Amino acid sequence: MASNSSVKKVSPFILMMIVIAFILSLSALYVAADSLVNQSEALDGYSFLVIGFGGLALSVYWLLQTRRTPVRASLELPRVITTLECPKCDFKSIRDFQREDYIFKKVGSCQKCNETMTITAVYREPEKKKN
Ligand SMILES: [Zn+2]
Repeated sequence: MASNSSVKKVSPFILMMIVIAFILSLSALYVAADSLVNQSEALDGYSFLVIGFGGLALSVYWLLQTRRTPVRASLELPRVITTLECPKCDFKSIRDFQREDYIFKKVGSCQKCNETMTITAVYREPEKKKN
């Protein structure tokens, strides 16, 4: 047997379960309607009605669940970091990249000695390791 590596797709087994549940609920509804219309075994008719609607709700819920998972995966942009350095006291600070940041640009002032800071690096933040 080939190992199934396409995990992101809804597995055909689950899809089949949903379809079967859907068909079963439809037939339960059909039985319910039939017995209600014919006035025969009215109690059974109502319980079939409940089963039918319950099954329908459940299969729709499953379908929504299987649809929902893959969507939210890939919307994270990598962060870009700017490193500032004070030429006088070597104080370093790091902040998010802002527009028009470039290396050797003079920005702001040192938190320690008030000297003008220089951008020494602009880089993409290394990807976080998953826990
Ligand atoms: Zn400084």
